[in-house]
Amino acid sequence: MNAAATLSAPAAIDCSRHARGLFIGGKWSPRGGIAVVDPSTERVLATVADATVADAIAAVDAAAAAAPRWRATAPRKRAEILQRCFALMTERHEELATLISLENGKSLTDARGEVSYAAEFFRWYAEETVRIGGEFRTAPSGNNRILVDYEPIGIAVLITPWNFPAAMATRKIAPALAAGCTVVLKPASETPLTAYALAELYQEAGVPHGVVNVITTSTPGPVTGAMLNDPRVRKLSFTGSTGVGRTLLAEAAKTVLSCSMELGGNAPFLVFDDADLDAALDGAMVAKMRNAGEACTAANRFYVQDGIYDRFVAGLVARMGALKVGPGTDPQTECGPMITRKAVDKINALVADATTKGAKVALGGQRSEGPGFYYPPTVLTEVPADAAMAFEEIFGPVAPVYRFAEEADAIAAANNTEYGLAAYIFTGDLKRGLSVASRIESGMIALNRGLMSDPAAPFGGVKQSGLGREGGVHGVLEFMEAKYIAASF
Ligand code: NAP
Repeated sequence: MNAAATLSAPAAIDCSRHARGLFIGGKWSPRGGIAVVDPSTERVLATVADATVADAIAAVDAAAAAAPRWRATAPRKRAEILQRCFALMTERHEELATLISLENGKSLTDARGEVSYAAEFFRWYAEETVRIGGEFRTAPSGNNRILVDYEPIGIAVLITPWNFPAAMATRKIAPALAAGCTVVLKPASETPLTAYALAELYQEAGVPHGVVNVITTSTPGPVTGAMLNDPRVRKLSFTGSTGVGRTLLAEAAKTVLSCSMELGGNAPFLVFDDADLDAALDGAMVAKMRNAGEACTAANRFYVQDGIYDRFVAGLVARMGALKVGPGTDPQTECGPMITRKAVDKINALVADATTKGAKVALGGQRSEGPGFYYPPTVLTEVPADAAMAFEEIFGPVAPVYRFAEEADAIAAANNTEYGLAAYIFTGDLKRGLSVASRIESGMIALNRGLMSDPAAPFGGVKQSGLGREGGVHGVLEFMEAKYIAASF
């Protein structure tokens, strides 16, 4: 989307190189096979291994065997290994971006942004590894001392989605390793190649065998269920839909597992009359069109005040209409395809529902011909409050614009959802911005900007958008337990 971004064509890469098998205990075990499809062309890129329950238990065995040594590895040494992961990701930036773009379909610009973001988790947690503290104080009674030691929680099962194949994995792996945990990662079936490419890289960086294991499967329920029911596993960290998150929470309840859940979103984007129009449009393009709308933080509902509504819509239509749609790896592409045909069907149905209920199509609104899973940038105006897309994630390049008159109405509409992940506010009045931010039920707020993700900040949601936080100083604590020692001396 940024015309100033590098527009060089990517070098051809051999995807099958990253489909060597399951990665367990530092070894590759070939098993056939889940086809990985290029959403831009519908061609098969490679076939990756399909793990069984026995493979999953073997991965937990490997994580368990590596755990005592990794836990005892000096923080400085762990930090140096994480720092090497950062350095290697930075060195292989272009190759990784191309791989992400091929298997996910996102534009190269977005893929390059993702690799930088994903690598930063290693740099941030390399720095955090040596700063994990404890507590020491006198009990209020004066009778004893209170010591609190933070220990690694144990073996962690990590489950990630397809929309950020690198970043959703590193946002979990880096803090887990910093904490001293060993992990089994199950990436999404649509985008496993990036996870396997990164597994090779971790090995080169010096991550010991068994500390990170990666398995792909076409039967995620039984395979992850077997791991979650294994008493050696003490942590589930999941990123994905709220629906699957609920299922996994129920599964994890059987063994009372510690759970961190990064789930779905339905982000409102509020534009007040006093907003800087250009800044609001710049922000809207990032909040809506990064990853072609396939982001949990994507603006899902634009609430625009009466006085600026027409100018905002005109600007949004002009900018969305100018985007170049095409294959992710075409350096000119600004909006790539959706992940699957099913995703296009869902977007199509949501647009049809809104227009049937009275929404007007200002741009796009018709699915594209294949090959490839394309949906064009679309702007809908005068969207009624009862449209299904007001309550469901669109996860595509569709911007529904709702009208409001009073601040209180916008806040009430923004909060009228089971989700609470991200929200955007544009206003020229900082006092109003902070006041509105305090009344929006959301884990994260972007005030006068279209992006909030930052490895140094706590990422996560309230309500049914999740439990816990990733990133920042908070992320590593998700992989630790506080051990309290009452001491007399
Ligand atoms: P998804 O369908 O929930 O899948 C996520 C992961 O869960 C995949 O690895 C998937 O494996 C696995 N899975 C599916 N069913 C399972 C089951 N019964 N048991 C165990 N694992 C299972 O989500 P998605 O479509 O990949 O991703 C999009 C969703 O993720 C959106 O809702 C988005 O908002 C959310 N998301 C949230 C955040 C956040 O930080 N809050 C970030 C990114 C995305 P398979 O691929 O094999 O089905």
